[in-house]
Amino acid sequence: MTRAPPSKSVGDEPRERSFLVHDATVPGPPLAPGLYVVATPIGNLADVTLRALSILAGADAILAEDTRVSRKLLARYGIETPLSPYHEHNAAEARPRALRRMRDGQALALISDAGTPLISDPGYRLVAEAVASGLAVTAIPGASATLAALCVAGLPTDRFFFEGFLPPRSAARRERINALAAIPATLVFYEAPSRLAETLADLALELGARPAAIARELTKLNEEVRRAPLDALAAHYAAAGEPRGEIVIVVGPAESRETASEDVLTKDLAEALRTLSVKDAAAVVAARHGLPRRQVYSRALALAGTRR
Ligand code: SAM
Repeated sequence: MTRAPPSKSVGDEPRERSFLVHDATVPGPPLAPGLYVVATPIGNLADVTLRALSILAGADAILAEDTRVSRKLLARYGIETPLSPYHEHNAAEARPRALRRMRDGQALALISDAGTPLISDPGYRLVAEAVASGLAVTAIPGASATLAALCVAGLPTDRFFFEGFLPPRSAARRERINALAAIPATLVFYEAPSRLAETLADLALELGARPAAIARELTKLNEEVRRAPLDALAAHYAAAGEPRGEIVIVVGPAESRETASEDVLTKDLAEALRTLSVKDAAAVVAARHGLPRRQVYSRALALAGTRR
C-alpha cells in the first residue's frame, strides 16, 4: 500500500497520518472535529482494532494518561500523532485546553494506559463537558479487563455489577462490600496485587463462600485464572503471598431469595451462631444470601432462643 501524503493538522507540524500493520502502511485520514474515546489493549498489543489505529493516526493529538506507556503502542504501529498528557493530576488545566482545541476544529483521541478510558480511568469529566459544549463524542470500543475477566470466570454474565477498586482500608472496604451483598448479580472488582489477600478475606467474611474467580495478567504471557469459592481463594493467596501483575476479582451472585432454601438458611445461621452474636450472624448470613438483614435477624433470634 502507498503511504498517505503528509497532511497538516491545525497548529501542528506536518506529519504522516498513517499506521503500519504487518508491514503495510495504511492511511489514517483526518477526522471530523470532536472527541474520540479509544480503547487500547490490556496487555497484548495485538488487541487493538483497525478502527482504533486509524483514529489514533488521523487525530490531531492524542490525550494519554501516561505518554510513556502510550508511546510503546504508537511506536509498534508506526503512529506519529503527538501525545499530550491527560491524567487526574493535570485534568483541571488540560481539560479546558482540550475543549478549546476541539471547539477550534481539532479531533482529539482520548486513551488510557490500558483498556477502555473512563472505566476506572480518567475521562468522564472531559466527555461530560464535551457533550455539554455540543461537541461530537465518538466511542471506539475494544478491550476492557472487566469484560475479558467475565468471559473466562465461568460465572453468570446475564447481570453483572462493576465496582472497580474497593477502599484500601479494611473497615471502609467491609462496609462497602456489605452494601453490595444483596445485589443479585455477578460482582466485578479491580484490585492491586499487594491487597489481593486481604480483600479476598474481607469478601469471604462479608459474602460467605460464594463462587469466585481471580483473573490475572489477562492477554499476557503469564495469564492465569483461578476459580474457587471466596474462602478458598482467600486461604490460597494468604499462603501463596503477593501475586505478580494485574488482577480482576469476579464474584458470583448471592443466592436468590427464591433459591435460598429454608434448610440452607437455618443451617448457615446455626453455624454462624456458634461463633458470632445474633446480630453478627444475621448480618453475615443475610449478606451471603442477599436477604434483608432484619428478616434474617428475626430468624436468628428465634434460632438462638431455641438453643438456650
Ligand atoms: N480502563 C481499564 C479497563 O478498561 O479495564 C482499567 C484501568 S484500571 C486503572 C487498571 C486495573 O484494571 C488493574 O489494576 C487491574 O485490576 C485491571 N486490569 C488491567 N489490565 C489487566 C489485565 N491484563 N489482567 C487483569 N486485570 C487487568
